[in-house]
Parts: sequence; C-alpha cells; structure tokens
Amino acid sequence: MWEEYEVEKYGHAEALANRPAETWRLFGGMREPVMAAHPNAAHRALAAWESRLSPHQELLIVTQNVDSLHQRAGSRNIVELHGNIMVTKCSNGKCSLEPHRDEMSHLEKVPLCPKCGSVLRPDVVLFGEEIPATSSWTVKRALRDCDLFIAVGTSGLVTPAANYVRSAEYAGARTILVNLEPMTMPNPAFKEQYLGPAEEVLPELLATDAQPLA
Ligand SMILES: [Zn+2]
Repeated sequence: MWEEYEVEKYGHAEALANRPAETWRLFGGMREPVMAAHPNAAHRALAAWESRLSPHQELLIVTQNVDSLHQRAGSRNIVELHGNIMVTKCSNGKCSLEPHRDEMSHLEKVPLCPKCGSVLRPDVVLFGEEIPATSSWTVKRALRDCDLFIAVGTSGLVTPAANYVRSAEYAGARTILVNLEPMTMPNPAFKEQYLGPAEEVLPELLATDAQPLA
C-alpha cells in the first residue's frame, strides 16, 4: 500500500486543504481493510498483561498505528499518537462537531460538516501536522514515571517515538527492544533485545511464568 499510493503527497495537510478528495481516497480506502483485520497474538498478549497488573501498576500503550486493534484486543490505556483512521472529525478547529466513529470510506464524495459546512476529515495526524499536545503530554508523564519500557516493531527512526527510549533510560527504566530484525542504526539506550515476529516474541515475553519479566 505504501508503494501504491504517494502517501507523503496525499497524506499531507496541504492535500487536505486543497484536494480533500485525495485525502479521502488514501485514508477512506483503508477503512474497509482495517475493519476486516483482527488483533493478533501480540495485541492480545499486551491486553492480557494489562489485565493482570496490580492496582499500583500501570501499562500505557503508545502507538503510531491508527487501526484500533489494541482497543479491539481489550487494551484500555492507549495513546494513539497518529490518531484513529475509523474516526471522522471537522477540519475546522473551532467547530463544535464531536469526532465520531465513521465506517464510510467517502471515496465518491468529500463529506461536509453538518454544523459548519467545512470539509470533514479522518482523525489522523497528516504529514505537516503536529501530534496533539494532550497525547505528547500523556506520553511525557508516563516516561518520567516509567520503570519498564518495551518498544515493539520499530525502525527506531521516526521521531518523536524514537526518542522515547532515551527518556525512559534517563528515568532509570529497564529498556527492551522487540523487533523482527536488529535496528540498522542500533540505539544504545536499549539494554535488551528480543528478535522475531512480535506475535511470537510478546506472548512469550509477557507470559505469566516468563522469566525475563517475572
Ligand atoms: Zn464543522
């Protein structure tokens, strides 16, 4: 998909402002496959882990995914850095229309806001846009208090997420990388590394009797 579409062009804030049909062609077209997808063993392992925590422990999932699969697996404490593709909102920041779940792809016609008439848009962070301040703040606070940090499936290159491990290390957290392959530019802030598909490594790592995290 990333090769088929010119994501950085159609997914840019400038495209939404001038050619919103292209924005919907890109993101609206992802809605059907997202709905057809299912959480895998990695999503389920994280949700199960959260449900086992004691009252004084907290797990925060910080994801760049926009597919809601963590929610569907049962995770509750989630920050979606790049938004949620199944949510539609008004492009006018001053409008009172609430962001809402929307399963339509809007490929035929760009939807307009029933309140103010502006173009509606998918609630994802486009190229050229900032991550919402509330999300950044929640993540910063979690990193400050963090004692265990696990990065899963990352190139380690996309900021700001790429910098999180440094903050966690500074806070004294144990830092773990779970990845399909070693990073091309290894980050020394990761002290442990488990290689393999996340849907195989995470269930093992987070199992109730797992030694590494017991
Ligand atoms: Zn509006």
